[in-house]
Amino acid sequence: MPFIVKKRINGNDYYYLRQSIREEGKVVSKYLAYLGKNRGEAEKKAKEIMNNIETNQKIVAGNVPKTEEPTEATKISVDDMAMFCKRKGFVYASGEIYGGLAGFWDFGPLGAELKNNLKREWWKYHVYSREDVVGIDGSIITHPMVWKASGHVDSFSDVFVVCKECKKPSKIDRAEIGKVKCINCQGEYDFANAKDFMLMFKTTVGLDTLAYLRPETAQLIFADFKSVSENSRAKLPFGIAQIGKAFRNEIAPRDFIFRNREFEQMEIEYFVKPGEDCPYEIPNEEILVFSAEAQEKAEEPVKMKFKEALEKGIIKKKWHAYWLSNEFLFFKNLGANTDNFRIRQHAKTELAHYSSDCWDLEYNFPFGWKELEGIADRSNYDLKQHEKFSKKDLTVFDEETKERFLPEVICEPSLGVERAFLVFMFDAYHDDKKRNNIVLKLHPKLSPVKAAIFPIIKKPEFEEIATKVLSILNQEWNVLYDKSGSIGRRYARNDEAGTPYCITIDGDSLKNNDVTIRDRDTTQQIRVKVSDVKDVLRKLINREIEFEKAGRKL
Ligand code: ATP
Repeated sequence: MPFIVKKRINGNDYYYLRQSIREEGKVVSKYLAYLGKNRGEAEKKAKEIMNNIETNQKIVAGNVPKTEEPTEATKISVDDMAMFCKRKGFVYASGEIYGGLAGFWDFGPLGAELKNNLKREWWKYHVYSREDVVGIDGSIITHPMVWKASGHVDSFSDVFVVCKECKKPSKIDRAEIGKVKCINCQGEYDFANAKDFMLMFKTTVGLDTLAYLRPETAQLIFADFKSVSENSRAKLPFGIAQIGKAFRNEIAPRDFIFRNREFEQMEIEYFVKPGEDCPYEIPNEEILVFSAEAQEKAEEPVKMKFKEALEKGIIKKKWHAYWLSNEFLFFKNLGANTDNFRIRQHAKTELAHYSSDCWDLEYNFPFGWKELEGIADRSNYDLKQHEKFSKKDLTVFDEETKERFLPEVICEPSLGVERAFLVFMFDAYHDDKKRNNIVLKLHPKLSPVKAAIFPIIKKPEFEEIATKVLSILNQEWNVLYDKSGSIGRRYARNDEAGTPYCITIDGDSLKNNDVTIRDRDTTQQIRVKVSDVKDVLRKLINREIEFEKAGRKL
Protein backbone atom coordinates (compact mmCIF):
# COMPACT_ATOMS: atom_id res chain seq x y z
CA MET A 1 0.00 0.00 0.00
CA PRO A 2 1.53 3.37 -0.99
CA PHE A 3 1.99 5.97 1.77
CA ILE A 4 2.81 9.69 2.00
CA VAL A 5 6.10 10.86 3.48
CA LYS A 6 7.09 14.42 4.33
CA LYS A 7 10.67 15.65 3.96
CA ARG A 8 11.89 18.93 5.37
CA ILE A 9 14.54 20.51 3.21
CA ASN A 10 15.92 24.00 3.89
CA GLY A 11 12.91 24.80 6.08
CA ASN A 12 10.36 23.74 3.43
CA ASP A 13 8.05 20.70 3.49
CA TYR A 14 8.03 18.37 0.48
CA TYR A 15 5.61 15.47 0.14
CA TYR A 16 6.31 12.17 -1.63
CA LEU A 17 4.43 8.99 -2.34
CA ARG A 18 6.32 5.84 -1.49
CA GLN A 19 5.52 2.16 -1.41
CA SER A 20 7.02 -0.74 0.54
CA ILE A 21 7.79 -3.76 -1.58
CA ARG A 22 9.64 -6.99 -1.02
CA GLU A 23 12.83 -7.30 -3.05
CA GLU A 24 15.13 -10.31 -2.73
CA GLY A 25 13.62 -11.19 0.64
CA LYS A 26 13.92 -7.64 2.06
CA VAL A 27 11.25 -5.01 2.48
CA VAL A 28 12.34 -1.76 0.82
CA SER A 29 10.59 1.56 0.38
CA LYS A 30 10.38 2.76 -3.22
CA TYR A 31 9.73 6.30 -4.46
CA LEU A 32 6.54 6.53 -6.57
CA ALA A 33 5.77 10.22 -7.09
CA TYR A 34 6.42 13.76 -5.91
CA LEU A 35 3.25 15.24 -4.44
CA GLY A 36 4.13 18.92 -3.99
CA LYS A 37 4.62 21.21 -1.01
CA ASN A 38 1.11 21.42 0.37
CA ARG A 39 -0.31 18.67 2.61
CA GLY A 40 -3.91 18.95 1.35
CA GLU A 41 -2.93 18.90 -2.29
CA ALA A 42 -0.47 16.08 -1.66
CA GLU A 43 -3.25 13.95 -0.15
CA LYS A 44 -5.52 14.67 -3.12
CA LYS A 45 -2.82 13.80 -5.61
CA ALA A 46 -1.89 10.64 -3.73
CA LYS A 47 -5.52 9.52 -3.71
CA GLU A 48 -5.73 10.01 -7.48
CA ILE A 49 -2.54 8.04 -8.09
CA MET A 50 -3.64 5.26 -5.77
CA ASN A 51 -6.99 5.06 -7.55
CA ASN A 52 -5.18 4.69 -10.85
CA ILE A 53 -2.93 1.99 -9.45
CA GLU A 54 -5.88 0.20 -7.90
CA THR A 55 -7.86 0.32 -11.14
CA ASN A 56 -4.88 -1.00 -12.99
CA GLN A 57 -4.31 -3.82 -10.49
CA LYS A 58 -7.93 -4.85 -10.83
CA ILE A 59 -7.54 -4.74 -14.59
CA VAL A 60 -4.38 -6.84 -14.47
CA ALA A 61 -6.07 -9.32 -12.19
CA GLY A 62 -8.88 -9.44 -14.74
CA ASN A 63 -11.54 -8.62 -12.17
CA VAL A 64 -12.88 -5.38 -13.60
CA PRO A 65 -16.66 -5.73 -13.98
CA LYS A 66 -17.30 -6.40 -17.66
CA THR A 67 -19.87 -4.31 -19.43
CA GLU A 68 -22.46 -6.03 -21.51
CA GLU A 69 -21.88 -7.16 -25.08
CA PRO A 70 -22.48 -4.48 -27.73
CA THR A 71 -26.09 -3.49 -27.45
CA GLU A 72 -28.64 -1.69 -29.56
CA ALA A 73 -27.81 2.00 -29.72
CA THR A 74 -29.68 4.15 -27.21
CA LYS A 75 -32.43 6.03 -29.01
CA ILE A 76 -32.16 9.76 -28.52
CA SER A 77 -33.87 12.70 -30.18
CA VAL A 78 -32.14 14.76 -32.83
CA ASP A 79 -32.00 17.70 -30.38
CA ASP A 80 -30.22 15.55 -27.80
CA MET A 81 -27.79 14.44 -30.51
CA ALA A 82 -27.17 18.10 -31.40
CA MET A 83 -26.44 18.84 -27.74
CA PHE A 84 -24.08 15.87 -27.43
CA CYS A 85 -22.28 16.92 -30.63
CA LYS A 86 -21.81 20.43 -29.31
CA ARG A 87 -20.65 19.29 -25.87
CA LYS A 88 -18.03 16.95 -27.27
CA GLY A 89 -16.85 19.21 -30.09
CA PHE A 90 -18.35 17.37 -33.06
CA VAL A 91 -20.62 20.08 -34.49
CA TYR A 92 -21.43 23.70 -33.61
CA ALA A 93 -23.87 26.17 -35.13
CA SER A 94 -21.85 28.30 -37.53
CA GLY A 95 -21.25 31.81 -36.20
CA GLU A 96 -22.64 30.71 -32.86
CA ILE A 97 -21.17 33.64 -30.95
CA TYR A 98 -23.46 35.86 -33.08
CA GLY A 99 -26.49 33.61 -32.60
CA GLY A 100 -25.81 31.16 -35.47
CA LEU A 101 -27.15 31.14 -39.02
CA ALA A 102 -29.90 28.64 -39.87
CA GLY A 103 -28.72 25.81 -42.10
CA PHE A 104 -24.97 26.37 -41.60
CA TRP A 105 -22.78 24.31 -39.28
CA ASP A 106 -19.12 24.10 -38.25
CA PHE A 107 -17.44 20.83 -37.46
CA GLY A 108 -15.27 20.89 -34.33
CA PRO A 109 -12.10 18.89 -33.64
CA LEU A 110 -13.86 15.52 -33.33
CA GLY A 111 -16.44 16.28 -36.04
CA ALA A 112 -13.85 17.32 -38.59
CA GLU A 113 -11.98 14.05 -38.02
CA LEU A 114 -15.12 11.92 -38.27
CA LYS A 115 -16.20 13.73 -41.43
CA ASN A 116 -12.77 13.30 -43.04
CA ASN A 117 -12.67 9.62 -42.08
CA LEU A 118 -16.14 9.12 -43.52
CA LYS A 119 -15.20 10.76 -46.82
CA ARG A 120 -11.92 8.81 -46.96
CA GLU A 121 -13.73 5.51 -46.40
CA TRP A 122 -16.30 6.41 -49.07
CA TRP A 123 -13.52 7.21 -51.53
CA LYS A 124 -11.60 3.99 -50.73
CA TYR A 125 -14.74 1.90 -51.14
CA HIS A 126 -16.05 3.60 -54.27
CA VAL A 127 -12.86 4.61 -56.08
CA TYR A 128 -9.68 2.85 -54.86
CA SER A 129 -11.19 -0.60 -54.46
CA ARG A 130 -12.76 -0.55 -57.93
CA GLU A 131 -11.18 -0.62 -61.35
CA ASP A 132 -14.17 1.05 -62.97
CA VAL A 133 -14.45 4.34 -61.05
CA VAL A 134 -12.21 7.43 -61.18
CA GLY A 135 -12.54 10.62 -59.18
CA ILE A 136 -12.63 14.36 -59.89
CA ASP A 137 -12.78 17.52 -57.83
CA GLY A 138 -14.87 20.16 -59.61
CA SER A 139 -15.22 23.83 -58.75
CA ILE A 140 -18.01 25.22 -56.62
CA ILE A 141 -18.74 28.09 -58.98
CA THR A 142 -18.77 27.09 -62.61
CA HIS A 143 -20.02 28.45 -65.92
CA PRO A 144 -23.66 29.50 -65.42
CA MET A 145 -24.62 27.70 -68.63
CA VAL A 146 -23.99 24.40 -66.81
CA TRP A 147 -27.02 25.20 -64.64
CA LYS A 148 -29.09 26.41 -67.57
CA ALA A 149 -28.43 23.16 -69.45
CA SER A 150 -29.15 21.00 -66.42
CA GLY A 151 -32.51 22.68 -65.89
CA HIS A 152 -31.63 24.10 -62.47
CA VAL A 153 -31.96 27.75 -63.52
CA ASP A 154 -35.51 27.20 -64.76
CA SER A 155 -36.86 24.66 -62.36
CA PHE A 156 -34.73 24.09 -59.27
CA SER A 157 -37.26 25.66 -56.96
CA ASP A 158 -39.55 24.67 -54.13
CA VAL A 159 -42.97 26.02 -53.29
CA PHE A 160 -42.81 28.31 -50.27
CA VAL A 161 -45.82 28.37 -47.96
CA VAL A 162 -46.47 29.80 -44.51
CA CYS A 163 -48.75 28.16 -41.94
CA LYS A 164 -51.77 30.31 -41.05
CA GLU A 165 -51.64 29.01 -37.47
CA CYS A 166 -48.02 28.69 -36.31
CA LYS A 167 -46.69 31.12 -38.98
CA LYS A 168 -43.76 28.79 -39.74
CA PRO A 169 -42.55 28.68 -43.36
CA SER A 170 -42.27 25.31 -45.14
CA LYS A 171 -41.37 23.93 -48.54
CA ILE A 172 -43.85 21.72 -50.32
CA ASP A 173 -43.98 20.03 -53.71
CA ARG A 174 -46.07 21.62 -56.45
CA ALA A 175 -48.39 18.59 -56.43
CA GLU A 176 -49.08 19.16 -52.72
CA ILE A 177 -50.61 22.64 -53.13
CA GLY A 178 -54.06 22.62 -51.53
CA LYS A 179 -53.59 19.10 -50.19
CA VAL A 180 -51.21 19.07 -47.25
CA LYS A 181 -51.24 20.36 -43.67
CA CYS A 182 -48.45 22.12 -41.79
CA ILE A 183 -45.73 19.62 -40.83
CA ASN A 184 -45.11 21.56 -37.65
CA CYS A 185 -48.62 21.97 -36.15
CA GLN A 186 -51.01 20.35 -38.66
CA GLY A 187 -52.53 23.81 -39.27
CA GLU A 188 -53.71 25.17 -42.66
CA TYR A 189 -51.12 26.56 -45.06
CA ASP A 190 -51.78 29.90 -46.74
CA PHE A 191 -51.87 28.41 -50.28
CA ALA A 192 -53.22 31.66 -51.78
CA ASN A 193 -49.83 33.24 -51.14
CA ALA A 194 -47.68 30.21 -52.12
CA LYS A 195 -44.53 31.35 -53.94
CA ASP A 196 -41.89 29.69 -56.09
CA PHE A 197 -38.57 29.81 -54.31
CA MET A 198 -35.31 29.40 -56.26
CA LEU A 199 -32.99 27.09 -54.32
CA MET A 200 -29.69 28.10 -55.93
CA PHE A 201 -27.57 30.75 -54.22
CA LYS A 202 -26.64 33.53 -56.59
CA THR A 203 -23.30 35.30 -56.63
CA THR A 204 -21.41 37.67 -58.90
CA VAL A 205 -18.18 36.87 -60.67
CA GLY A 206 -16.03 39.92 -61.45
CA LEU A 207 -18.03 43.10 -61.81
CA ASP A 208 -21.47 41.82 -62.72
CA THR A 209 -21.51 38.30 -64.17
CA LEU A 210 -24.28 36.32 -62.53
CA ALA A 211 -23.16 32.89 -61.30
CA TYR A 212 -24.43 30.24 -58.87
CA LEU A 213 -22.98 28.20 -56.03
CA ARG A 214 -23.43 24.61 -57.18
CA PRO A 215 -26.57 22.96 -55.77
CA GLU A 216 -25.15 19.48 -56.49
CA THR A 217 -21.80 18.03 -57.48
CA ALA A 218 -23.22 15.84 -60.27
CA GLN A 219 -23.33 18.42 -63.06
CA LEU A 220 -19.58 19.01 -62.87
CA ILE A 221 -19.14 15.31 -63.68
CA PHE A 222 -21.31 15.65 -66.79
CA ALA A 223 -19.60 18.83 -67.90
CA ASP A 224 -16.17 17.15 -67.51
CA PHE A 225 -17.29 13.80 -68.86
CA LYS A 226 -15.51 13.95 -72.20
CA SER A 227 -12.14 14.98 -70.78
CA VAL A 228 -12.28 12.50 -67.91
CA SER A 229 -13.19 9.55 -70.13
CA GLU A 230 -10.36 10.41 -72.53
CA ASN A 231 -7.74 11.11 -69.84
CA SER A 232 -8.45 8.03 -67.79
CA ARG A 233 -8.84 5.87 -70.92
CA ALA A 234 -11.92 4.46 -69.21
CA LYS A 235 -13.96 1.80 -70.98
CA LEU A 236 -17.68 1.56 -70.39
CA PRO A 237 -19.16 0.68 -68.02
CA PHE A 238 -17.39 3.13 -65.72
CA GLY A 239 -18.16 5.73 -63.12
CA ILE A 240 -16.91 9.18 -62.16
CA ALA A 241 -16.96 10.01 -58.47
CA GLN A 242 -16.82 13.30 -56.66
CA ILE A 243 -16.98 14.56 -53.08
CA GLY A 244 -17.62 18.21 -52.47
CA LYS A 245 -19.69 21.06 -51.13
CA ALA A 246 -23.17 21.82 -52.43
CA PHE A 247 -25.42 24.74 -51.53
CA ARG A 248 -29.20 25.01 -51.48
CA ASN A 249 -31.15 27.92 -50.11
CA GLU A 250 -33.53 25.56 -48.27
CA ILE A 251 -36.74 27.27 -47.15
CA ALA A 252 -36.79 25.48 -43.83
CA PRO A 253 -33.44 23.96 -42.82
CA ARG A 254 -34.10 21.60 -39.92
CA ASP A 255 -33.33 18.47 -37.95
CA PHE A 256 -29.82 19.51 -36.97
CA ILE A 257 -27.46 18.66 -39.87
CA PHE A 258 -30.05 16.65 -41.83
CA ARG A 259 -31.27 19.56 -43.98
CA ASN A 260 -28.72 22.31 -44.40
CA ARG A 261 -28.09 25.17 -46.74
CA GLU A 262 -24.44 24.23 -47.10
CA PHE A 263 -23.60 20.52 -47.15
CA GLU A 264 -21.37 17.99 -48.84
CA GLN A 265 -22.25 15.30 -51.33
CA MET A 266 -20.50 12.09 -52.31
CA GLU A 267 -21.74 11.20 -55.77
CA ILE A 268 -21.06 8.83 -58.64
CA GLU A 269 -22.37 9.02 -62.17
CA TYR A 270 -22.13 5.48 -63.51
CA PHE A 271 -22.09 5.39 -67.32
CA VAL A 272 -22.99 2.38 -69.48
CA LYS A 273 -23.52 1.68 -73.16
CA PRO A 274 -27.31 1.75 -73.75
CA GLY A 275 -28.70 -1.74 -73.09
CA GLU A 276 -25.44 -3.03 -71.54
CA ASP A 277 -26.12 -5.60 -68.82
CA CYS A 278 -24.63 -5.55 -65.32
CA PRO A 279 -21.74 -8.05 -65.12
CA TYR A 280 -21.45 -7.87 -61.33
CA GLU A 281 -22.75 -10.31 -58.71
CA ILE A 282 -25.45 -8.92 -56.45
CA PRO A 283 -24.35 -9.28 -52.82
CA ASN A 284 -26.43 -11.76 -50.85
CA GLU A 285 -27.88 -9.11 -48.51
CA GLU A 286 -31.40 -8.45 -47.37
CA ILE A 287 -33.20 -5.24 -46.53
CA LEU A 288 -36.71 -3.83 -46.04
CA VAL A 289 -38.09 -3.12 -49.51
CA PHE A 290 -40.81 -0.47 -49.85
CA SER A 291 -42.03 -0.79 -53.42
CA ALA A 292 -44.06 1.86 -55.22
CA GLU A 293 -46.96 -0.61 -55.28
CA ALA A 294 -46.81 -1.19 -51.51
CA GLN A 295 -46.85 2.58 -50.95
CA GLU A 296 -49.85 2.97 -53.26
CA LYS A 297 -51.76 0.20 -51.48
CA ALA A 298 -50.70 1.53 -48.05
CA GLU A 299 -48.94 -1.78 -47.30
CA GLU A 300 -45.88 -2.26 -45.12
CA PRO A 301 -42.36 -2.68 -46.55
CA VAL A 302 -41.20 -6.30 -46.80
CA LYS A 303 -37.79 -7.70 -45.87
CA MET A 304 -36.18 -9.58 -48.75
CA LYS A 305 -32.89 -10.15 -50.53
CA PHE A 306 -31.90 -7.60 -53.17
CA LYS A 307 -31.70 -10.52 -55.60
CA GLU A 308 -35.25 -11.58 -54.76
CA ALA A 309 -36.55 -8.04 -55.31
CA LEU A 310 -34.92 -8.16 -58.75
CA GLU A 311 -36.28 -11.61 -59.59
CA LYS A 312 -39.79 -10.51 -58.56
CA GLY A 313 -39.52 -7.49 -60.87
CA ILE A 314 -39.79 -4.98 -58.01
CA ILE A 315 -36.31 -3.65 -58.76
CA LYS A 316 -36.45 -3.38 -62.52
CA LYS A 317 -32.79 -3.51 -63.53
CA LYS A 318 -29.89 -5.66 -62.35
CA TRP A 319 -27.73 -2.53 -62.33
CA HIS A 320 -30.05 -0.96 -59.76
CA ALA A 321 -30.13 -4.07 -57.55
CA TYR A 322 -26.34 -4.12 -57.72
CA TRP A 323 -25.83 -0.46 -56.81
CA LEU A 324 -28.51 -0.46 -54.12
CA SER A 325 -26.93 -3.45 -52.37
CA ASN A 326 -23.48 -1.97 -52.86
CA GLU A 327 -24.52 1.25 -51.15
CA PHE A 328 -26.23 -0.61 -48.33
CA LEU A 329 -23.01 -2.61 -47.81
CA PHE A 330 -20.99 0.59 -47.47
CA PHE A 331 -22.98 1.38 -44.32
CA LYS A 332 -23.06 -2.21 -43.07
CA ASN A 333 -19.29 -2.65 -43.41
CA LEU A 334 -18.76 0.45 -41.29
CA GLY A 335 -20.90 -0.93 -38.49
CA ALA A 336 -24.26 0.79 -39.09
CA ASN A 337 -27.30 -1.06 -37.75
CA THR A 338 -28.87 -2.68 -40.83
CA ASP A 339 -32.31 -2.82 -39.16
CA ASN A 340 -32.50 0.96 -39.53
CA PHE A 341 -32.26 0.83 -43.34
CA ARG A 342 -34.81 0.34 -46.10
CA ILE A 343 -35.03 1.05 -49.81
CA ARG A 344 -38.00 3.03 -51.10
CA GLN A 345 -39.01 3.05 -54.74
CA HIS A 346 -40.17 6.35 -56.22
CA ALA A 347 -43.81 6.37 -57.28
CA LYS A 348 -44.48 7.09 -60.97
CA THR A 349 -45.49 10.65 -60.10
CA GLU A 350 -42.09 11.25 -58.46
CA LEU A 351 -40.10 10.02 -61.46
CA ALA A 352 -38.49 12.44 -63.91
CA HIS A 353 -39.67 11.88 -67.52
CA TYR A 354 -36.28 10.38 -68.50
CA SER A 355 -36.00 8.02 -65.52
CA SER A 356 -37.18 4.39 -65.66
CA ASP A 357 -36.69 3.64 -61.98
CA CYS A 358 -35.43 5.49 -58.94
CA TRP A 359 -34.84 4.41 -55.35
CA ASP A 360 -33.89 6.05 -52.09
CA LEU A 361 -31.85 4.36 -49.42
CA GLU A 362 -33.73 5.48 -46.31
CA TYR A 363 -32.76 5.49 -42.65
CA ASN A 364 -35.01 5.38 -39.63
CA PHE A 365 -34.03 8.73 -38.07
CA PRO A 366 -35.59 9.73 -34.72
CA PHE A 367 -37.81 12.05 -36.80
CA GLY A 368 -38.96 9.24 -39.11
CA TRP A 369 -37.84 7.33 -42.22
CA LYS A 370 -36.01 9.82 -44.43
CA GLU A 371 -33.90 9.83 -47.57
CA LEU A 372 -30.27 9.15 -46.82
CA GLU A 373 -29.08 8.53 -50.36
CA GLY A 374 -30.74 8.82 -53.74
CA ILE A 375 -30.03 6.14 -56.36
CA ALA A 376 -31.43 7.43 -59.63
CA ASP A 377 -31.48 6.30 -63.24
CA ARG A 378 -30.78 9.44 -65.33
CA SER A 379 -30.51 7.85 -68.81
CA ASN A 380 -28.53 10.08 -71.19
CA TYR A 381 -30.55 13.15 -70.24
CA ASP A 382 -27.74 15.24 -68.78
CA LEU A 383 -25.14 14.51 -71.45
CA LYS A 384 -27.78 15.24 -74.10
CA GLN A 385 -28.61 18.58 -72.48
CA HIS A 386 -24.92 19.55 -72.28
CA GLU A 387 -24.41 18.54 -75.93
CA LYS A 388 -27.37 20.73 -76.85
CA PHE A 389 -26.26 23.81 -74.90
CA SER A 390 -22.49 23.56 -75.47
CA LYS A 391 -22.80 22.35 -79.06
CA LYS A 392 -19.94 19.93 -78.33
CA ASP A 393 -19.91 16.28 -79.26
CA LEU A 394 -19.96 14.26 -76.02
CA THR A 395 -20.36 10.84 -77.63
CA VAL A 396 -17.85 8.03 -77.15
CA PHE A 397 -16.48 5.68 -79.77
CA ASP A 398 -16.85 1.92 -79.46
CA GLU A 399 -13.73 0.29 -80.95
CA GLU A 400 -15.48 -3.07 -81.36
CA THR A 401 -18.65 -1.99 -83.13
CA LYS A 402 -17.08 1.17 -84.65
CA GLU A 403 -20.06 3.24 -83.59
CA ARG A 404 -20.41 6.52 -81.72
CA PHE A 405 -23.07 6.90 -79.04
CA LEU A 406 -24.00 8.87 -75.97
CA PRO A 407 -23.55 6.81 -72.77
CA GLU A 408 -26.39 6.51 -70.28
CA VAL A 409 -26.19 7.04 -66.55
CA ILE A 410 -27.75 3.82 -65.32
CA CYS A 411 -27.19 4.78 -61.70
CA GLU A 412 -26.41 7.93 -59.80
CA PRO A 413 -25.74 7.09 -56.14
CA SER A 414 -25.85 10.43 -54.35
CA LEU A 415 -25.18 10.61 -50.62
CA GLY A 416 -25.02 13.58 -48.27
CA VAL A 417 -21.97 13.52 -45.97
CA GLU A 418 -23.89 15.12 -43.09
CA ARG A 419 -26.74 12.62 -43.33
CA ALA A 420 -24.26 9.71 -43.30
CA PHE A 421 -22.50 11.41 -40.35
CA LEU A 422 -25.80 11.44 -38.43
CA VAL A 423 -26.49 7.78 -39.23
CA PHE A 424 -23.17 6.66 -37.80
CA MET A 425 -23.59 8.89 -34.75
CA PHE A 426 -27.10 7.59 -33.99
CA ASP A 427 -26.07 3.95 -34.42
CA ALA A 428 -22.95 4.44 -32.30
CA TYR A 429 -24.54 6.29 -29.38
CA HIS A 430 -24.80 4.02 -26.31
CA ASP A 431 -25.75 5.30 -22.89
CA ASP A 432 -23.92 2.72 -20.78
CA LYS A 433 -25.64 2.68 -17.40
CA LYS A 434 -22.97 0.47 -15.78
CA ARG A 435 -20.12 2.72 -16.83
CA ASN A 436 -22.31 5.74 -16.20
CA ASN A 437 -21.17 7.47 -19.36
CA ILE A 438 -21.84 7.55 -23.09
CA VAL A 439 -19.92 5.02 -25.16
CA LEU A 440 -19.75 6.07 -28.80
CA LYS A 441 -19.28 2.75 -30.57
CA LEU A 442 -18.06 4.08 -33.89
CA HIS A 443 -16.25 1.72 -36.24
CA PRO A 444 -12.52 2.30 -35.54
CA LYS A 445 -12.04 3.39 -39.16
CA LEU A 446 -14.46 6.25 -38.49
CA SER A 447 -13.35 7.10 -34.95
CA PRO A 448 -11.96 10.64 -34.73
CA VAL A 449 -9.17 9.54 -32.36
CA LYS A 450 -7.79 6.05 -32.94
CA ALA A 451 -6.01 5.69 -29.60
CA ALA A 452 -5.52 7.61 -26.36
CA ILE A 453 -2.22 7.10 -24.59
CA PHE A 454 -2.02 7.38 -20.81
CA PRO A 455 0.94 7.25 -18.47
CA ILE A 456 -0.66 5.84 -15.34
CA ILE A 457 1.16 8.37 -13.20
CA LYS A 458 2.88 11.62 -14.11
CA LYS A 459 6.47 10.48 -13.69
CA PRO A 460 9.26 10.96 -16.23
CA GLU A 461 9.92 7.24 -16.74
CA PHE A 462 6.22 6.59 -17.45
CA GLU A 463 5.91 9.66 -19.65
CA GLU A 464 9.01 8.70 -21.57
CA ILE A 465 7.43 5.43 -22.74
CA ALA A 466 4.08 7.16 -23.32
CA THR A 467 5.58 9.87 -25.56
CA LYS A 468 7.54 7.21 -27.42
CA VAL A 469 4.31 5.31 -28.15
CA LEU A 470 2.68 8.62 -29.11
CA SER A 471 5.40 9.47 -31.62
CA ILE A 472 5.21 6.00 -33.17
CA LEU A 473 1.45 6.16 -33.63
CA ASN A 474 0.92 9.82 -34.56
CA GLN A 475 2.84 9.31 -37.80
CA GLU A 476 -0.14 7.39 -39.07
CA TRP A 477 -3.23 8.29 -37.05
CA ASN A 478 -4.88 10.95 -34.98
CA VAL A 479 -3.96 9.77 -31.46
CA LEU A 480 -3.89 11.73 -28.24
CA TYR A 481 -1.84 11.91 -25.10
CA ASP A 482 -3.92 12.21 -21.96
CA LYS A 483 -2.26 12.46 -18.58
CA SER A 484 -4.76 14.40 -16.50
CA GLY A 485 -7.34 13.00 -14.14
CA SER A 486 -7.99 9.52 -12.84
CA ILE A 487 -7.74 6.57 -15.20
CA GLY A 488 -11.53 6.14 -14.89
CA ARG A 489 -12.13 9.73 -16.05
CA ARG A 490 -9.69 9.32 -18.91
CA TYR A 491 -11.47 6.15 -20.07
CA ALA A 492 -14.87 7.84 -19.81
CA ARG A 493 -13.73 10.90 -21.79
CA ASN A 494 -12.42 8.71 -24.56
CA ASP A 495 -15.42 6.37 -24.58
CA GLU A 496 -17.59 9.44 -25.22
CA ALA A 497 -15.34 10.60 -28.04
CA GLY A 498 -15.56 7.17 -29.68
CA THR A 499 -11.84 6.39 -29.20
CA PRO A 500 -11.67 2.62 -29.76
CA TYR A 501 -8.43 1.92 -27.88
CA CYS A 502 -6.81 3.31 -24.73
CA ILE A 503 -3.16 2.51 -24.21
CA THR A 504 -1.84 2.60 -20.64
CA ILE A 505 1.76 2.74 -19.53
CA ASP A 506 2.11 1.37 -15.99
CA GLY A 507 4.73 -0.01 -13.59
CA ASP A 508 5.10 -3.23 -15.57
CA SER A 509 5.75 -1.24 -18.75
CA LEU A 510 9.00 -0.01 -17.17
CA LYS A 511 10.20 -3.57 -16.65
CA ASN A 512 8.80 -5.27 -19.74
CA ASN A 513 8.60 -2.45 -22.29
CA ASP A 514 4.98 -3.25 -22.97
CA VAL A 515 1.60 -1.52 -22.62
CA THR A 516 -2.01 -2.35 -21.88
CA ILE A 517 -4.54 -1.81 -24.65
CA ARG A 518 -8.16 -1.50 -23.58
CA ASP A 519 -11.05 -2.10 -25.96
CA ARG A 520 -13.72 0.61 -25.79
CA ASP A 521 -16.72 -1.63 -26.45
CA THR A 522 -15.95 -4.55 -24.12
CA THR A 523 -13.41 -2.92 -21.72
CA GLN A 524 -11.27 -6.04 -22.20
CA GLN A 525 -7.51 -5.60 -21.93
CA ILE A 526 -4.52 -7.07 -23.66
CA ARG A 527 -0.79 -6.61 -23.10
CA VAL A 528 1.32 -5.72 -26.16
CA LYS A 529 5.06 -4.97 -26.58
CA VAL A 530 5.82 -1.33 -27.43
CA SER A 531 7.54 -2.48 -30.62
CA ASP A 532 4.33 -4.24 -31.77
CA VAL A 533 1.82 -1.52 -30.86
CA LYS A 534 1.64 0.10 -34.30
CA ASP A 535 1.14 -3.16 -36.13
CA VAL A 536 -1.45 -4.40 -33.65
CA LEU A 537 -3.35 -1.11 -33.77
CA ARG A 538 -3.44 -1.19 -37.58
CA LYS A 539 -4.87 -4.73 -37.53
CA LEU A 540 -7.43 -3.77 -34.90
CA ILE A 541 -8.59 -0.66 -36.78
CA ASN A 542 -8.95 -2.65 -39.98
CA ARG A 543 -10.72 -5.45 -38.09
CA GLU A 544 -8.12 -7.92 -39.33
CA ILE A 545 -7.72 -9.53 -35.94
CA GLU A 546 -9.94 -10.24 -32.95
CA PHE A 547 -9.12 -8.08 -29.98
CA GLU A 548 -8.48 -11.02 -27.65
CA LYS A 549 -5.99 -12.53 -30.07
CA ALA A 550 -4.07 -9.32 -30.68
CA GLY A 551 -1.98 -9.60 -27.50
CA ARG A 552 -1.67 -11.35 -24.16
CA LYS A 553 -5.14 -11.34 -22.63
CA LEU A 554 -5.38 -9.96 -19.10
P1 ATP B 1 -34.65 15.94 -50.08
O1 ATP B 1 -35.85 15.34 -50.74
O2 ATP B 1 -34.36 15.40 -48.71
O3 ATP B 1 -34.58 17.43 -50.17
P2 ATP B 1 -33.31 15.57 -52.51
O4 ATP B 1 -34.08 14.44 -53.14
O5 ATP B 1 -33.55 16.95 -52.96
O6 ATP B 1 -33.40 15.45 -50.93
P3 ATP B 1 -30.95 15.00 -53.90
O7 ATP B 1 -31.04 16.16 -54.78
O8 ATP B 1 -31.28 13.65 -54.48
O9 ATP B 1 -31.78 15.23 -52.60
O10 ATP B 1 -29.51 14.99 -53.23
C1 ATP B 1 -28.77 13.80 -52.99
C2 ATP B 1 -28.40 13.66 -51.53
O11 ATP B 1 -27.80 14.87 -51.05
C3 ATP B 1 -29.58 13.41 -50.61
O12 ATP B 1 -29.94 12.05 -50.58
C4 ATP B 1 -29.02 13.88 -49.29
O13 ATP B 1 -28.22 12.86 -48.69
C5 ATP B 1 -28.13 15.04 -49.68
N1 ATP B 1 -28.85 16.31 -49.50
C6 ATP B 1 -29.71 16.89 -50.37
N2 ATP B 1 -30.15 18.06 -49.87
C7 ATP B 1 -29.55 18.21 -48.67
C8 ATP B 1 -29.60 19.22 -47.67
N3 ATP B 1 -30.34 20.33 -47.82
N4 ATP B 1 -28.86 19.07 -46.55
C9 ATP B 1 -28.10 17.97 -46.37
N5 ATP B 1 -28.02 16.98 -47.28
C10 ATP B 1 -28.73 17.08 -48.41
